[in-house]
Amino acid sequence: MTATAPVLVALHAHPDDEAIFTGGTIVRAVEAGWRVVLVVATDGDQGAGPDCGRTPLGARRRDETMAAAAVLGVARVVFLGHGDSGYGVPDGGRSGTATARSLQSGTLAAAHVDGVAAVVRRLMGDEGATALTSYDDNGIYGHVDHVQVHEIAARSVEGTECELYEATLDRRVLRVLRTGMVARGLLPDLWPPSLTARLGVEHGPAMVAVDVTPQLDRKLLAVAAHSSQVVEASSFMGLPAGVFHHLLRTEWFRVARRGRGRFLGMLEATDGLAPAPTESATVPAPGQGAARPVLTG
Ligand SMILES: [Zn+2]
Repeated sequence: MTATAPVLVALHAHPDDEAIFTGGTIVRAVEAGWRVVLVVATDGDQGAGPDCGRTPLGARRRDETMAAAAVLGVARVVFLGHGDSGYGVPDGGRSGTATARSLQSGTLAAAHVDGVAAVVRRLMGDEGATALTSYDDNGIYGHVDHVQVHEIAARSVEGTECELYEATLDRRVLRVLRTGMVARGLLPDLWPPSLTARLGVEHGPAMVAVDVTPQLDRKLLAVAAHSSQVVEASSFMGLPAGVFHHLLRTEWFRVARRGRGRFLGMLEATDGLAPAPTESATVPAPGQGAARPVLTG
């Protein structure tokens, strides 16, 4: 790293979020000479899978995160040490649906946004952060911890020069995919229209799509490093496996704070920006990607 290398801080709620939602973009930034710092707010101790022998799930997931970070080329990993609030989602839950666990002290959902933001802001200052990534205001799919990360990030960049990009999913793409899947008679029951309506955000001018096809192999290796969460032939957020894998080739961000636009400039300079979706978007063939690892959520 040179003294002038731009710095991307990727703020995430749980181990594996970094790989699924931003893994390809992280690899792209590293390839372009950026220093990437991964900040994970919880150790994901409420994730799928039992504690393994004497190793609690949270400890195992921290190890998995370090392995995934190494695959992605992340320079530094910071755990903020909050408790996972558990998957208590979404009834459309815009502001994050509270779960019994999320109200317990120690969880990220129960943490004071200003306090966590102060920690993140100090870290951003130490690193000389150029850009920060977080999640859209629905936490991509309504998870309370993700919504909290959205709030923390928005607070963290206040009064700084740091650019802010919020990971999301493009609902228009999801609708096109669903239409195509239904037309083929594929598993419509697993993917009701109500699901499409509550994942990600509507397409808009502030949204950018990052093509991570060249980075996909490393992204999938990073996803697979979270082996406690990998279950083959399952689905993620209700999406059929083929569709989920199709989506992994693209990472969407809402440009919340463009600033000097250095992060967007990097994406543009490396041909990383994908064109806006059209009605003719390709729909995955039956079984496509079925051999690849899928997370349960
Ligand atoms: Zn998560």
